Amino acid sequence: MSEESGATEVAVLGGGPGGYAAAFRAADLGKRVALIDEGENPGGVCLYRGCIPSKALLHVAKVIAESHEAAAWGVEFSPPKIDLNRMRAWKEGIVTKLTAGVGQLSKARGVRFVRGRGKFLDAGTLRVERSAGGEEDIPFERAIIAAGSRPFIPPGLSLESARLMDSTSALALKDAPESLLVVGGGYIGLELGSVYAALGARVTVVEMTAGLLPGADRDLVNILAKRLEKTLHAVLLNTKVAGMKEVKGGIQARLEGEGAVPAEAVFEKVLVAVGRAPNSGGLGLENTKVEIDEKGFIKTDAQRRTAEDNIFAIGDVAGEPMLAHKATHEGRVAAEAIAGAKAAFEPAAIPAVVFTDPEIAWCGLTETAAKAEKIPVQVARFPWAASGRAQTLGQSDGVTKLVIDPETERVLGVGICGSGAGELIAEGVLAVEMAAVAADVGLSIHPHPTLSETLMESADVFFGTSTHIYRPKRG
Ligand code: NAD
Repeated sequence: MSEESGATEVAVLGGGPGGYAAAFRAADLGKRVALIDEGENPGGVCLYRGCIPSKALLHVAKVIAESHEAAAWGVEFSPPKIDLNRMRAWKEGIVTKLTAGVGQLSKARGVRFVRGRGKFLDAGTLRVERSAGGEEDIPFERAIIAAGSRPFIPPGLSLESARLMDSTSALALKDAPESLLVVGGGYIGLELGSVYAALGARVTVVEMTAGLLPGADRDLVNILAKRLEKTLHAVLLNTKVAGMKEVKGGIQARLEGEGAVPAEAVFEKVLVAVGRAPNSGGLGLENTKVEIDEKGFIKTDAQRRTAEDNIFAIGDVAGEPMLAHKATHEGRVAAEAIAGAKAAFEPAAIPAVVFTDPEIAWCGLTETAAKAEKIPVQVARFPWAASGRAQTLGQSDGVTKLVIDPETERVLGVGICGSGAGELIAEGVLAVEMAAVAADVGLSIHPHPTLSETLMESADVFFGTSTHIYRPKRG
């Protein structure tokens, strides 16, 4: 099929991991597809200014941290010499390689990539303002909106200053400031705060709630918080930034709340990471029947169909959690539904990973949610201090836990804090999706010595049969 031939059967608006996965699936199912995005290639926020560049920089941070830790293992390195230009070039090289690769995959599938900004004229036409200039109207049979999200900067925290960064400008890595204020102790604040701390900045995190990563289980977060005490200058909980102004050499922030001592301080740069907002504005949705909720998310059904029958919406623009892997799966569901399959988006577990050092990952039911929703659970916890592999990695403070239904012994959720938690959680996702019982996890032979054994031994803890934990019987 030639790229240009024939009318568009599926128009996908937005080329991130949700949009391009949807476009590719639709093309693989025989549809004529147009994928519209402003980027040079598909990739979206995740590849260009999110997941991928941040992970490249977090890898650098981890190597720097390990070079310090190695002193305790008998290897001493001299302090790292940081060449920001080379680091930036390396990060950008990864982004270019990946986005070019996605561009080639798009071409190979016969997807027509239209570079520009799209807007609905009605429920059957998209007008694209081409990046190269000019406009093009694309009539379509079905559309998938995958327009993503953008950093949310509340009015109280907006300031016309080159010193104020959001996640995009922070990832651009213009320089390594001497001091950095991070507003928001969530995913982005902690990941990027850790990167800048590794590059030598004195990082202060201000979080308005009583703990970092609200919503995540405290036993996991506490391990991270303890490590951050060593790498960050300060973490101020129950604290807000009440005002900011540019002064000579930095931004003066006025703090309010428990951690507001002193109440005013000057930081060379400020990173605002207090959440993201869906990109549902400016799409011409008012020219369709597509509905949005009070937070700006597009309303959809289980197939990701909007109130306008032939228009679907997926990813960040269609609701929480705003995670790339959730968008990808939704995109594939929408494409399959369009092709007439009985597809629905109904996962039992969407994994969440915070790529700090140590990493935190969880899936399915958390202990926090079980408590809030009064769901009876039994939690089986395996401390990494009892794992040989964790000891060899200098990671003995980690923990793996299973959240189990005491009656059926089904694994309802998994939580991990420690090195590689983001990789390990995949087994938890499979267990929850497959409705595994604790015995399934405990009886599956895990390779020794690996961190994956901590999942198996957590199941053993549930039955009181863990080899590496001795709990003498009472009485
Ligand atoms: P977030 O929701 O994770 O964290 C925002 C934090 O800011 C919260 O802890 C909140 O209590 C705090 N906060 C809000 N207003 C504040 C204020 N005025 N002062 C101080 N603290 C304030 O949001 P984020 O870190 O901006 O990330 C946005 C989204 O991007 C995440 O929800 C996530 O879905 C996604 N993301 C995911 C990853 C990942 O998967 N590893 C990484 C980065 C971003």
